[in-house]
Amino acid sequence: MEKKCQSCTRSMKESEKFCANCGEEYVEKTQEKKINPKMKWSIIVGAIILLFAGHQLLHGYYSPKSLEKRFESAVDEGDPIKLTKIATHEDKTPITEGEAEAFLELIDEEGQEVIEQFA
Ligand SMILES: [Zn+2]
Repeated sequence: MEKKCQSCTRSMKESEKFCANCGEEYVEKTQEKKINPKMKWSIIVGAIILLFAGHQLLHGYYSPKSLEKRFESAVDEGDPIKLTKIATHEDKTPITEGEAEAFLELIDEEGQEVIEQFA
């Protein structure tokens, strides 16, 4: 891809660090390969929300409250296995233990406020 000044969009040589036109420093945009925890978080939260909705549709006998309780107890106990039994992906495939662990770690980091927003 052509290197362009991020300020004035003038074409720059690979070797140029500063734009010869406006003097703006060129900041290398490195590809963010690491998964953004917030992104991962939102994906998993999305899965959980869909699960909530899905369970309510497919299994009417699951009251949202009881599911919420099971979900909360899995989180409280930090039990990924328990969580995998409750949570599924959008396409109804079960979440993996690793995903459940990541989810629990994120809850640890972010606190449970985010969950409560959805509960
Ligand atoms: Zn420039």
